[in-house]
Amino acid sequence: MFTHATGSHLHDHEGRRYLDFFAGAGTLNYGHNPPVLKDALLSYLKGDGITHSLDLFTAARTELLTALQTYVLNPRGLDYRVQFPGPTGTNSVEAALKVARKATGRSTVVAFTGAFHGMSLGSLAVTGSAAKRAGAGLPLTGTHRIPYEGFGGGAFDGPALLESMIRSDNSGLDLPAAVIVETVQGEGGVNVASPQWLGELSDLCRRHGIVLIVDDVQMGCGRTGPFFSFETASIVPDVVCLSKAVSGYGLPMALTLIRPELDVWAPGEHNGTFRGHNLAFVTGAAALREYWQDSTLEKETLRHGELVAAGLEEIAAAHPDSGARIRGRGLVWGLEFADPTAAHRVNQEAFARGLLVETSGAVGEVVKLLPPLTVSDDELAEGLALLGEAVTAAL
Ligand code: PMP
Repeated sequence: MFTHATGSHLHDHEGRRYLDFFAGAGTLNYGHNPPVLKDALLSYLKGDGITHSLDLFTAARTELLTALQTYVLNPRGLDYRVQFPGPTGTNSVEAALKVARKATGRSTVVAFTGAFHGMSLGSLAVTGSAAKRAGAGLPLTGTHRIPYEGFGGGAFDGPALLESMIRSDNSGLDLPAAVIVETVQGEGGVNVASPQWLGELSDLCRRHGIVLIVDDVQMGCGRTGPFFSFETASIVPDVVCLSKAVSGYGLPMALTLIRPELDVWAPGEHNGTFRGHNLAFVTGAAALREYWQDSTLEKETLRHGELVAAGLEEIAAAHPDSGARIRGRGLVWGLEFADPTAAHRVNQEAFARGLLVETSGAVGEVVKLLPPLTVSDDELAEGLALLGEAVTAAL
């Protein structure tokens, strides 16, 4: 039973300390209770700042929007309308899918093998996992599935396949409204798309007037290095889904960024009670001011990513018979074994040693590492050493 947490550590009721390389599934990018964000929140609460406001204009909302414009959108030359679609990642995805369908007047959305986009019906329809989709209890329609990069051992070229299907009048695929993609599939097993593959996908969408939605719910807010995960591929999506780390404090908030021409919403057409979560706006604005005024965090994330890659390579090399493979970008990394049950045991052995890691992939076959972006070199070294011990014990 966990009682409190700071930085990269959680503490339980018996006084044990755990290194947290799970970070709220990519929500706590700045660690637990980052002091600057906590101070901003406490002073807002003390001053009787507004907590709940639906979609009224409030000072906190204005502050968040201004910080997003100043530190994120303007420096990157990005022009998006910002929608508050509801507090969770799946709310952002639902808004993205709806607006793409409304703006184009078309219904089919292209999604990828291995994708995860959330648990509400629209998001489930574009999610890959059979087990998750089965929970819907009704047919999930309006989706056309294409192989993600690397699927099936890399035997398929998804963008080329999609292009030829769109060009053919006999393929059975009507022109899609949108393509929805993760640049790195977090839940799907840390599958990394190359900049080239993403570029081809983006070009295809441009050629055919298809709305390109990047679901950056897990990989956004610096997880892969830059604020947006798609920056490395030099693409500009039409719609971007953000959530998880956007409040920087674990407070629920989601944003859907929409290219202005696609903002076809009628007033109130996509609404929700908890879109005006001002406490999340306060910490979100503080996070952008604290971490995104310059490229320090981005550079540190990339440097730390190299340390993780080297550490994982060492672990894999120490177990040549395990078929261990590693993949990742920035500070999201996956370690997969030939035996698909091994990751779960590694996870348990790591927990017993005071390290929290997650599993991901179709059957939980990948150990996933998501340390806070604010992790120190020492903490990373300690976590990798614990993971190495856990792998030895599990195998
Ligand atoms: N999209 C992606 C890429 C995600 O990783 C997740 C959550 N794991 C979601 C959407 C859904 O977010 P939420 O659980 O907040 O609805």
